[in-house]
This record gives sequence, C-alpha cells and structure tokens, in this order.
Amino acid sequence: MTIYLHNSLTRQTEEFKPIDPKNVTFYTCGPTVYFYQHIGNFRTFAMADFLHRTLLFNGLKVSYIMNFTDVGHLTGDNFGDADTGEDRLEKAAEKEGRSAKEIANYYIQDFTQSYEALNLKKPKKFTRATEYIQEQIELVRSLEQKGFTYQISDGIYFDTSKYSAYGLLSGMSKESIKEGARVEPNPEKLNASDFALWKFSPADKTRWQEWDSPWGVGFPGWHVECSAMAMKELGVTLDLHMGGEDHKMIHHPNEIAQSECATGQRFVNTWLHVAFLQVDGGKMGKSLGNGYTLDDIKHKGFDPLALRYFYMNAHYRTNQNFTWDAMQHSQNALNKLYDIVGSYKEEKNALPDKQILERFKDSLNADLNVPKALSIMWELVKSTTSDPVKVATLVKMDEVLGFNISDHIGYEVPVSVIDMARTRYEYRKSGIWDKADLLRKAIEAEGFVVEDVAGSFKLKRKN
Ligand code: AMP
Ligand code: ZN
Repeated sequence: MTIYLHNSLTRQTEEFKPIDPKNVTFYTCGPTVYFYQHIGNFRTFAMADFLHRTLLFNGLKVSYIMNFTDVGHLTGDNFGDADTGEDRLEKAAEKEGRSAKEIANYYIQDFTQSYEALNLKKPKKFTRATEYIQEQIELVRSLEQKGFTYQISDGIYFDTSKYSAYGLLSGMSKESIKEGARVEPNPEKLNASDFALWKFSPADKTRWQEWDSPWGVGFPGWHVECSAMAMKELGVTLDLHMGGEDHKMIHHPNEIAQSECATGQRFVNTWLHVAFLQVDGGKMGKSLGNGYTLDDIKHKGFDPLALRYFYMNAHYRTNQNFTWDAMQHSQNALNKLYDIVGSYKEEKNALPDKQILERFKDSLNADLNVPKALSIMWELVKSTTSDPVKVATLVKMDEVLGFNISDHIGYEVPVSVIDMARTRYEYRKSGIWDKADLLRKAIEAEGFVVEDVAGSFKLKRKN
C-alpha cells in the first residue's frame, strides 16, 4: 500500500508516510459558525471526507479533528486582512438579537445536519475554539517568552520578521504581502505580514465573548485557535492538515509560523488545499445570491447524496463548477446506480473482485483521484461479473463512496422463509399469537425481518 498526496508545502506529489503508521493525525479547518455553510464550504469538507475514508480503506487508523470557529474570525478576512473588521459571531449576534453562543449553537446544529446528510464521516472530535481559550493563551505566552511578539494598541502581534521561513507555503515573500494583498495595513504593525495573536476588547464595549488574559481582556486571533486545538488534540507535528485554497495565503502560513516558533518543531508534514467551487462559472458568495446551501439543493428535490456524487466528479485540486444542470446529471447517475443495484441478488458467501478493488484503491491512493475511482465503480457495474460478486465489491467500495449502496441492493428471499411468513400470517389472522411469534423468531434466525402491512406481510433483510 502506497498513498501519494500532493503536498502544498513542497509543491510535490509525495509518498505519504505517517509519523505513527498505526495512527494518522489529520486536521481540517472547519466552519465559521455565524451563518449557513454553502455548498462551496461543503466541497472542502467532502474532500476531507474522501481522504479520511481513503486512509481507513487502506487499513490505517485515523485521528481526525475538525474545528468550529466560534470566535475571532473577523470580516476583514474578506478583503485580505483578517486582523481588521468585526468579529463575525459578534456581528451576527447583534443582527439577529441573540447571544454569540446562541448563534454558534444554532449554526453548529445546522452544519451538523448537512454534514450527516452528506454522509460525511464524523471526526474523532469537533473542537470549539471557545473551549480552548487557555491553550490559546498559553501558546501566545510561549511565543511572547521566546521573543516573537509585540504589543500595539489593539492587541498582541506576531513579528514575522523573526521567522525566516514565513511564506514558504504561500510562495509569497513578506515584502510582496506588503505591496498588495492587504488593504490599508495597520500603521502600528512592524511588518504588513504580522498578524494578531490576541486582540483587546474595545474600551467602550463589552463583547459577548471575551476573556481575561495576561495582556488584558480580549479574544484570541483566528489563526491561533487552529494551532492550539490541533496541537492539543493531535500533538506538535501533524501528518495532514487540510482546508480551502484561500487558506494557503494567510491563515495557514500564520498557523505554521506561530506553531513552529512556539514548539521548535515542524507543525505539519503534508498540507492539502481544496480548489474552490464556482457557480455558473464564477465566484460564489452570500452577497452574489448564489451561495447555495444543502437546503436549497433539497428544496429543488435533490437527494443530498446526489450532491456528494456531484463532488466526486472533479479532482480536489481543480476548480469545480456548480450548475443546476450538473446537479441533475449527478442525481440521474445516482438514481441509475440505485436502480441497477436494486435488481442485484446478493449471496452471503460471495467474495469481492480483488482486482478491481485494487484498481479502485490505487486511484484513491494517487493523490485522491476520486473521479477515477467512481469510473471504476461504473466499470464494475457495467461488466459481466456475476451479481453476487458485484454486490460484495460494491459494498466494499461504498466504504469510501458513501452512497449507502447496501440499502438499495435487491435480495432473494428463500422459499422456506416465505412459507414461514405465510403460515405466521394465517396464525395471526386466527389470533394464535404465540405460534405467530415463534415463527417471527424463526424468520429472524434466517436473517429476515417480517413486517405486517395492510392485508399482507413484507420481508426485509435484517441489518
Ligand atoms: P469558513 O466558514 O469561511 O471558515 O470556511 C470553511 C471552509 O470552506 C474553509 O476551509 C474554506 O477555505 C472553505 N471554502 C470557502 N469557500 C469555498 C469554496 N467556494 N469552495 C471550496 N471551499 C471553500
Ligand atoms: Zn484553520
């Protein structure tokens, strides 16, 4: 088993070698929970899910963590400066007349529903930034003790001139950041690329969420939270860290700088970035009115798993374009798959086709080529392989595909079981409940469940 992944840090496709081969550590930057997540955000989480499942498919154990950003992500991030503007949670709280915590709880619940509907595998833990404040303060303190910080009027900042490797991930020098990417840089900052580690609460206002710290009342900078949570849960060096491609420029370089300066160790061995989803060939966003959510997809009559299928059509490092037409194609393809497998008969002892499974796995292991893996699944479905072998193979493939294929597979009920069900039905009609019950148990022992429906009975495979 060799897994190859494209490492954004080295810009090379490399053999993936986890530090502990028995336990891969994997962190994905999760949602900022101030509003509904759109299908672009979920593209990133779906790609993380395909990777998570691919690692498991290879027989690896995975400690997978995803965070909820419920404090500190400022609106300035939209314009290239995440240290300016308003805290998204505080702003939403004001607008919606609820506390920041209520806002976070509401959108976490909404996110979780969509997450489950898309059949994304739960991480070991969803970590909430506000539950790791002490760890964040400690991280900043250790940077302060090592001389990497300075204080200005609105907070404690990281001095990027003290970290020579800054910008290795983004490929941008500190100087080039100064020239363009940021709008109206804070004049008090020593370098335009410096970033906030701890921000002070405004003097004239009490925030919904603020904490005491050695530097005064305030809240952690957005970047600090990921470093603190990731290292607390997974150790100082992670195998894998994933996020959308926007994070490659500022958020992740900042995570690297503060983590490596605090620990003196490498923070992440392999960085993975997901290219953005577009809508109708252009940028998607709330303000453009095309920031579709899973609910929008469902309201148009689509199955959430058809969106999962849609995500599988493009490689994670290329942009994907969402159109309603493409969505319809994915739904049609999924329906076709369910229709076909509905006619398959399974056989308990059938074994999967090892050769095609191996090719399926090889595609996934080649920098997560999910579109190729999907095409191999169709190759199997269209082949002359016997139904029971197809079923056994598909069930195995579904560990990564996540289409709940088992629920759609047809099955043959043995005549003896049908006979028992008929006799049971007669007993019930005559009110001979004890004998009917004995037969129900006998049917169950054969691996089936009998259900009473109006004027008849139904037999289903026991799960
Ligand atoms: P946020 O809630 O803004 O913190 O974003 C959550 C995740 O979604 C981050 O990893 C972003 O990089 C990612 N993301 C945002 N927009 C898109 C998009 N259009 N396509 C793919 N990923 C996105
Ligand atoms: Zn992050």
